[in-house]
Amino acid sequence: MVEKLMKYADAVKQYEPVFGLETHVELSTNTKLFCPAHIEFGGDPNTQLTPVSLGLPGSLPVLNEAAVDYAIKLGLALHCEIAEWSQFARKNYFYPDMPRDYQISQYDKPTNGNGYLDVELEDGTVFRVDIERAHIEDDAGKNTHIGGADGRIEGADHSLVDYNRAGVPLIEIVTKPITNAGDRAPEIAGAYMRAIRDIVRALNISHARMEQGNMRADVNVSLRPKGSTELGTRSETKNVNSFRAIEKTMQYEIRRQAAILSAGGEILQETRHWDESTQSTAGGRVKSDADDYRYFPDPDLVMLHITQDHIERLKAQMPEMPRERKNRLQQEWQFNDLEMRDIINADALDLIEDTVKAGATAAGAKKWWLGELSRAANNQEITLEELRVTPTDVAQVEKLISDGALNDKLAKQTMNFVLEGEGTPEEIVEKHGFKVVSDDSALLQAVDEAFAQNPDVVEKLKSGNMKPMGVIIGAVMKATRGQADAKAVTKIVMDKLK
Ligand code: ADP
Ligand code: MG
Repeated sequence: MVEKLMKYADAVKQYEPVFGLETHVELSTNTKLFCPAHIEFGGDPNTQLTPVSLGLPGSLPVLNEAAVDYAIKLGLALHCEIAEWSQFARKNYFYPDMPRDYQISQYDKPTNGNGYLDVELEDGTVFRVDIERAHIEDDAGKNTHIGGADGRIEGADHSLVDYNRAGVPLIEIVTKPITNAGDRAPEIAGAYMRAIRDIVRALNISHARMEQGNMRADVNVSLRPKGSTELGTRSETKNVNSFRAIEKTMQYEIRRQAAILSAGGEILQETRHWDESTQSTAGGRVKSDADDYRYFPDPDLVMLHITQDHIERLKAQMPEMPRERKNRLQQEWQFNDLEMRDIINADALDLIEDTVKAGATAAGAKKWWLGELSRAANNQEITLEELRVTPTDVAQVEKLISDGALNDKLAKQTMNFVLEGEGTPEEIVEKHGFKVVSDDSALLQAVDEAFAQNPDVVEKLKSGNMKPMGVIIGAVMKATRGQADAKAVTKIVMDKLK
């Protein structure tokens, strides 16, 4: 079904978008939330199980202390109040990937409540997102539908279920309804998600890879006429799993809802999903606030008591937060806002920091990671981290350049061999015999030959027309397999011409 959409600019002129994000962050603990089943991404299906993760009769949950500490650290980073007493509750519903028929979550007594996150937008504007709660819960397993299009259940002839993920600890961060974002709502939603990703990575509590499902968000969007103070009816697009898709979901929903409202229609309160292939959201299950999960305190788990002492201990372990770190590094490296933004967008902050630690200048490190190496990563369709080049390698190449052992061209060739996995820069230089030739006699001979081969060029140079100088330098470079020091060559040529 092709839905009517209003132009984005018109939609946000007439209506005020309101949104709320429910972000699930999968924690990188070694074991599950309530049992010692080992967690590993990509393991064979149904190999990371215990009776608890299968909900077998008589099995009892035991809370994972590390998961609680991770949750508190995230709560602190989000400026939340950490509850002295929090409680796990059963959220009852049936789904084949959840063998217990209830999810263990937190309901009216979450561990983290009432926080906020200051999110920096591309142009440097800071927007405060208020956070309702960040509670602890366990994940469901994974269904794989076979035979339908795109792995969806529609049209599938059978489904497989893998319980490895069942019981993996999650934190669900729920924002308050964000009302004052205006036409920048999609951008703010994307920036918020990136900020959450950066924080959980800094805290080292999640791998935070959206493409592996470590982070996913339910995107709630509604519109209201400008000036209205009541909230409109929202749609909830489930499990959006990339930053771009979050922004696009928001834009699409704003345009779709505006078209319906302006035609006098009503928004259906429903769950939807983002379809990457059609770049649109499609309707799912109609959902009302009256959905009754029959929450009740899980009688198998005592209340969670968190002392102030314990919070203080965790506070003392908190690393520097990403925004503060970015600002500090910008100062140290002397980059302008634009340069810093490029670094962040390229996901190169850590790599550049490590390269500088390994001895390179910030400018040198940036030049490689955002230039040659970004191109290589793009070509191979992998991340910078996944390249076969380490910060130490980059620092080594930079050192070889500054020592005068490599010129730019040789440095690039060396780097290419490092990318191909041939070894460290020093090994490659040694193996291929890369060395800038600045030894005068060798260069002199190469220049003599170049002069002999290009008498017409020499005539021009002698008459003061310096344009064809490149021909001579090129010939010398060729004769020395790119290893000549261009400055030294120019000097010899000039001396000879005199
Ligand atoms: P549920 O758990 O049923 O999805 P919640 O009340 O927890 O419902 O809300 C989920 C998210 O939707 C929260 O982030 C909340 O801020 C947001 N939200 C609630 N009402 C609206 C609305 N009318 N428009 C946009 N977002 C909303
Ligand atoms: Mg929800």
